[in-house]
Order: sequence, then structure tokens, then C-alpha cells
Amino acid sequence: MSRVVVIGGGFAGMAAACRLANDGVPVALYERAPRLGGRAASFEYEGETLDYGHHILMSCCTAATGFLERLGVEETVRFQDYLSIPILCEGERTVLRSAPLPGILHLLPSLLRYRPLSFGERLAALRAGAALAVGRGRNETFGAWLSRHGQSERAVRRLWNPVVVATLNAPAGKVGIAAARKVLRDGFFQPDGAAMGLFTVPLGSIFDAARKYVEARGGLVEVGAAASRVLFDGNRVIGVALADGRTVDAEAVICAVPPNALAPLVGPRPELANTLAAASRLEWAPIVNVHLWFDRPILDDEFAIAVDSPVQAIFDLDRLRGQGGGRHLVLSQSAADAWIDRADTEVVGELVAALRNLLRAGRDTRLVNSLVLRHRRATFVPSPGSDALRPGAHITIGGLFLAGDWTATGWPSTIEGAIRSGIGAAARAESETESQPLPASDD
Ligand SMILES: Cc1cc2nc3c(=O)[nH]c(=O)nc-3n(C[C@H](O)[C@H](O)[C@H](O)COP(=O)(O)OP(=O)(O)OC[C@H]3O[C@@H](n4cnc5c(N)ncnc54)[C@H](O)[C@@H]3O)c2cc1C
Repeated sequence: MSRVVVIGGGFAGMAAACRLANDGVPVALYERAPRLGGRAASFEYEGETLDYGHHILMSCCTAATGFLERLGVEETVRFQDYLSIPILCEGERTVLRSAPLPGILHLLPSLLRYRPLSFGERLAALRAGAALAVGRGRNETFGAWLSRHGQSERAVRRLWNPVVVATLNAPAGKVGIAAARKVLRDGFFQPDGAAMGLFTVPLGSIFDAARKYVEARGGLVEVGAAASRVLFDGNRVIGVALADGRTVDAEAVICAVPPNALAPLVGPRPELANTLAAASRLEWAPIVNVHLWFDRPILDDEFAIAVDSPVQAIFDLDRLRGQGGGRHLVLSQSAADAWIDRADTEVVGELVAALRNLLRAGRDTRLVNSLVLRHRRATFVPSPGSDALRPGAHITIGGLFLAGDWTATGWPSTIEGAIRSGIGAAARAESETESQPLPASDD
């Protein structure tokens, strides 16, 4: 018998399974897709391994870096020594860079030279940054807060929106002030929190390592194995029914799936009605990734952020993976409501035209191939009040635990949040099953 069953093999489920396996708890993880990774999975395309979604970390993501270290794959992500973000705007390149100054001051010199804004707008942005660093929030959007703090529409468009759209997958007008403050305070306002972590290999290799880690410690990881129902005896979990007809006994079950996959797993239980009803009110936002292959190098940087352009974030996948540079780009379009339902040819046509405008070097390059990847429910929107809709790891049924980036981690919908949730749920499941005697062995 597996003492703990984990349902879902994304970052949350794998972090839970690794923690349990490390602590000697018999664990079995079931993932319904044919591969691990969930929203961070990889796939094969024309001889290359690509990620369904291009991901980055920031150096404040300490649970994520700890997880990679535990698996022995910390080299899969390369952190900048200090924050340095090339910004492309109206054909000009400027760099938002950390200076060797303490706290929020590390951004001061760079913001004072931030060319997409007028000098007055830069000073106003610095004042707003200082207010954000020290202030306490009320229940309002970041957009409302910015306008109360004297930020022009252009400053929102050219500075604040690029930050929150890239990190929270929603514009300032939708994001709650609490979430914006978290990202800015823990990340951008700290010299040691803001550096970007760029993955140098497909994310699937991290999940391969996690699977080996669990299996080497006696755990089981099965893909292509959907759970159809958590099984209860009264107010206690007793196992999981799989879609292929098997039943797995368990003392505890960690459901590490998004909320829309949780409801069918647990069925209509009154103890969970409020949790499920609240979670169904979380709003989810799309991300569209566009892979572009050119006949020759087009980008000078390994990544860049465009402002005031249809293009948002640009990553040079060749360079990130140490394979020369500049031919294979990924454009990551967050808060992508305007892109998600458009035809591939339109999406590619408009973005390539915008890219050529941004990168003078790109004007005479030829597009060789393209691939559009759509994620309708990429991350939830951390709108004002959304934290109240996120459940904790443990709910009122004995042995049932929740994990996933959408649960109450204090973090936005990220790898970091997912890993924290998985580790937290595993710790709770361990302490609950510890108090139960181990079942007699059949051997
Ligand atoms: C395009 C894109 C870009 C992103 N960029 C970033 C980024 O740059 N940085 C960052 O930190 N985060 C980013 N994110 C968010 C990040 O991917 C997620 O926060 C994280 O992967 C969520 O992990 P999870 O384990 O909570 O959920 P998921 O990854 O959704 O995993 C849940 C798993 O449960 C499985 N499952 C569901 N139902 C069942 C069932 N009945 N039986 C068995 N298995 C089941 C699913 O198949 C899935 O594999 C991005 C997301 C997307 C989509």
C-alpha cells in the first residue's frame, strides 16, 4: 500500500512526491497526461524538444532553486549575476540594470536613465516605487493605486504594465495591489531577489530527474494514469480509483491538480462545497508562445522585453541552450486575450512585423518556420480579493490535501508557488500519517 497517493505530475505534485520519497514515506504519483510537467511540460517538435510554455524564474524563487538543488539539476537554470533586462522601445535599446546599491536603491541609476519615459515620469515612478516599498495595501487594483500615485498612462504602459504582465500575467488594471507589491518587493526591489533565472534546457529534463529521484527512493510515478475519483470512507480518505479500473489504497491523498480538475475527483461533498465554489471564482488568463525560426541571427541579446509594441518578451532559445544564437526565438505573449483566438497566420504575421520594427537587424531576415502554442488557462489572475478564494493545503476531510499554484501559498501562479504548495501539502500529509500505525505487511 502506498501511504500517500499524489494526483498530478506538475511542479506541485512532483515537489510533494520528492519530499515524501526523501522522507521515506511510501508514495505513488499518478499523472493523466502521457508525460510529466503539466503546464511546464516539454514535447518533441521536428527533432527539437520544446516547452509548452517558456518559463523563467527570479532569484527570489528560493523554493524552486532548492528543489532543483535537491534533484541535482541546479545547472538547468542560469541566474544572472545581477538584474539586467534589455528593454526595446521605438527602435531604441535601454537596459534596466541593478547597481551596487542597497535595497530599492539598486534600481535608482537605471530608472533615472530609463529612456521610454520622460524625466518627470521617471521621478514620479521612483516616488511610486518608494511608496510601494513601504506602504500597506487596501483592496484595490494596482492600476487604481498607480493612478492615485501620479503615474501617467504612458508610465503604466511603458514601465508598470510590462512588469506585472510578465510576472503576473495580467495588466495593472486587473492585478490586486497585494500581488503587485509582492512581486516588486520580493523581486525587483531587492538586489538579490531580482536577477532573472533562464532555463538552459527543456523543463522536461527537470521532471525526468524528479521521477528518478522518487523511484530511487522506492516511490512509484506513473504517467498516462488518470485518477477518476478519490475514495472516502465517511470523513476519511481511503484511496483513489484510476480511470483504467484499478483502485489504489492510501492513508492520504494529495490532489495536485488545478481547481477544474479537482471537482470531478472529489465529487459533490458538502465539506468541499465552499472550497470548490470559491476556487471556481478565480479568473484564469491565457498566454500565447510563438516560436519563430529565422534564416540568420536576429536578436543581439539572449532575451529582451519590448514596450509599447505588440511584442512583449523575446527569448533566444538557441543562445539559452548554448547552440549559437539568434535564429530560434520564442515570443511570450502574456495576458494574451487579444491573441488567443486568432489564426496562427495572423498572430505570426503581426508579431513578426512588430519584431522587424523593433530589431533593425531583423529587417532582411527570412522567417523559415513558426509554431504558435496557446494556453487558455495559463495562470490565475491575482485580482483584488483573490487570495480569499485560495484554499490551504489541508481541508476538513481526514487524509485529503490540496496542492497547486492556485492554493494559498502567498505566491502568484508560478513554479515557485506550485513547489511551495507541494512541499507544504507533503509535510501536512506526513504529519497526519505519522500518527496512524503502518498497516500490517502481506509479506
Ligand atoms: C505558457 C506559460 C508560461 C508560464 N510562465 C511561467 C514563468 O515564466 N515562471 C513561472 O514561475 N511560472 C510560469 N507559468 C506558470 C507555471 O507553469 C505554473 O504555475 C505551474 O507549472 C503550475 O504547476 P502545478 O503543478 O500547480 O499545476 P499543473 O502544471 O497544471 O499540473 C497539474 C497536473 O495534474 C494533472 N491532472 C489533472 N487531473 C488529473 C487526474 N484526474 N489524474 C491525474 N493527473 C491529473 C494534469 O495533467 C497536470 O499535469 C507559466 C504557465 C504557462 C502555461
